[in-house]
Amino acid sequence: MKVLVIGSGGREHALVWKIAQSPLVEKVYCAPGNPGIGTIAENVDIKVDDLSGLLSFAKKEDIALTVVGPELPLSLGIVDLFEEYGLKVFGAQKNAAIIEASKAFSKDLMRKYNVPTAAYEVFTEVEPAIAFIDRTGVPIVIKADGLAAGKGVIIAQTRDEAVAAVTDMLSGNSFGAAGSRVVIEEFLKGEEASFLAFTDGKNIIPLASAQDHKAVYDGDTGPNTGGMGAYSPAPVVTPAIHEKAMQEVMRRTVDGMAAEGRPYRGVLYAGLMIDGESVKTLEFNARFGDPECQPLLMRMKSDIVPILLAVAEKDISRVQIEWHDKAAVCVVMAAEGYPGDYPRGDEIHGLDDAAKIQDLFVFHAGTALDKDKFVTNGGRVLGVTALGPTVKEAIDRAYQGVSLISWRGAHYRKDIGKKALAR
Ligand code: ATP
Repeated sequence: MKVLVIGSGGREHALVWKIAQSPLVEKVYCAPGNPGIGTIAENVDIKVDDLSGLLSFAKKEDIALTVVGPELPLSLGIVDLFEEYGLKVFGAQKNAAIIEASKAFSKDLMRKYNVPTAAYEVFTEVEPAIAFIDRTGVPIVIKADGLAAGKGVIIAQTRDEAVAAVTDMLSGNSFGAAGSRVVIEEFLKGEEASFLAFTDGKNIIPLASAQDHKAVYDGDTGPNTGGMGAYSPAPVVTPAIHEKAMQEVMRRTVDGMAAEGRPYRGVLYAGLMIDGESVKTLEFNARFGDPECQPLLMRMKSDIVPILLAVAEKDISRVQIEWHDKAAVCVVMAAEGYPGDYPRGDEIHGLDDAAKIQDLFVFHAGTALDKDKFVTNGGRVLGVTALGPTVKEAIDRAYQGVSLISWRGAHYRKDIGKKALAR
């Protein structure tokens, strides 16, 4: 069969890499893809928000399965559109993707269905927001309601910072319409984990545990990014925590969405905050996490295509997933200045040398081709991902790959996976 993957980041490179290994698949297309993806699949020059362009392509090429990577096309309704035309597509429908697209929606859903989360209120006016900040005290967390690529969250340590953040968001200065409503919530302490599961709207099959590293610098310092690295499994997710996350977060959320008339199908991602025995939900995403997708798919032993197809066909009751009994670690290499402004077009060296390392794969995120050379073309440029018999060995192998790759101003965290070692 022919498969179309939509997106252009490290997540999509990992999906294409895994899908292309399936004996069921003869050809993989990726729209728009990136040059790394182009070495294993055919890139198609259609943007992720060009829904009618994607639909015509899928019809013309007789695509048997379309897999949607990023949130934007989901929130624009690509799944609804493809299904209307009888095409099989993996992803959440528009009325379910709102669980990520609106933080106010997801917080209200959690409150209604008793999914543990931080105490919060939603505001559209500055004055009541400030009154709430004064009642709650600091630290406090201010979030733009809409999609802001992981950058719409401010953890305010002082009242002044909190007031400045709400004023700025509600005035439309920093996030436009995405900030016209803000969620203000209680600061939670603990260790984060990413909990992902496939669901057909009824059955829930968890993926292996994973942990992201959102802050740009070592020791979780500096501003938040889209994610600077990830590993799997995450020992913070003990069997007891896993059970709690399945029952109190996933089960209640999937049932809640169904009860709301918004059946959730696809991969549901819960960002969890774990503190001792307490599990609270920070956020939901309607897609695979990036970079978590990279180590997770490296660890997945099963063919992913029958799983994605079963979700698209709305019945995963017979799906089982096998995992390699190894750890995987992804270190993101970013462009100078990221998560702020960054240059593009710097030549990347060492990719061929890194490719010689066994059990290591370099997933491309923000790259471009300049004649026949790979150059930087985004903030997060590469995800250097390795398997190892233990987390320690996977870390060492990933950093061995990183040490061979360079470009002007490249930076990366040196402590990916350290929290797993500390346990
Ligand atoms: P992304 O799109 O990158 O997943 P997001 O913009 O949807 O992120 P959240 O996941 O809600 O936003 O928050 C981003 C990060 O801010 C979290 O991963 C966590 O580190 C921190 N954070 C969010 N809410 C809280 C909270 N209530 N207490 C403490 N930290 C928080």
